[in-house]
Amino acid sequence: MPTSLSKPRPRFHTSTPLAPSLVGTTIALPEDVAHHAVRVLRLAQGDAITLFDGNGGEYAATLDETGKRATLATVDRFENVDRESPLAVTLVQGVIAADAMDYAVRKAVELGAAAVTPVLCVRSQAGLQGQRGEKRLAHWRAIAIAACEQCGRNRIPAIAPVQTLHAWLDGAPFGRAVIAAPGARRSLAAYAAEGAPAIIVVGPEGGFTDAERDGAIEKGIVPVSLGPRVLRAETAGVAALAMIAAVCGDAR
Ligand code: SAH
Repeated sequence: MPTSLSKPRPRFHTSTPLAPSLVGTTIALPEDVAHHAVRVLRLAQGDAITLFDGNGGEYAATLDETGKRATLATVDRFENVDRESPLAVTLVQGVIAADAMDYAVRKAVELGAAAVTPVLCVRSQAGLQGQRGEKRLAHWRAIAIAACEQCGRNRIPAIAPVQTLHAWLDGAPFGRAVIAAPGARRSLAAYAAEGAPAIIVVGPEGGFTDAERDGAIEKGIVPVSLGPRVLRAETAGVAALAMIAAVCGDAR
């Protein structure tokens, strides 16, 4: 039987910067990467891995030593490849319950969102001020990195600190921006057929208040429908990003 099936090459993000000048050298993997590779994935000497630092491109490497003291890898080559969407779409997501928000962030990254901006809406669960907010932000950033490891992106999309929808709206004008509003006359697909939005705003579980929706519209944000069914808040962003990619992005 032919044995041409190549083993999958696990991808690891390193917080220490890499450089093409490292090709041909042996480096010590950062502790978190070493732990994930050796303890969690049980990789061994000779296994091929991919490393990326989020500044673009990726490095093919081979594990050399997986000892107690250090995990070493030889950097075999640099590949100047990114898998970024040609569209820069930011998901502005009304803050929702913790698990649902994690899902929304992870899927937005997989679908190529350029950034995720969490916004507190009137009907968002409160309690993200101060330290808790910082912990959640660090957690979402870790999810974004894990999603990049999984999906092949070599640039980490920015996750903005939590702010209120109200404060975010003060940053208008936003260019081409849409707000997902159930029952809106225009569909997102029809809107995107004329050009991708740079921003898609999605509400929390309970939706936007009328004042929030009207406030967004006043700032030039166009209300759009995602179809006749009411989607859960964590589904709406995923669906919207997939629609945009299919109509005018790299899923065409
Ligand atoms: N009862 C709420 C439902 C909220 S669903 C309401 O009527 O607004 C959560 C969020 O997902 C909404 O605020 C909206 O941004 C988005 N959404 C869900 N289904 C949608 C649809 N069919 N069209 C447009 N936006 C939708």
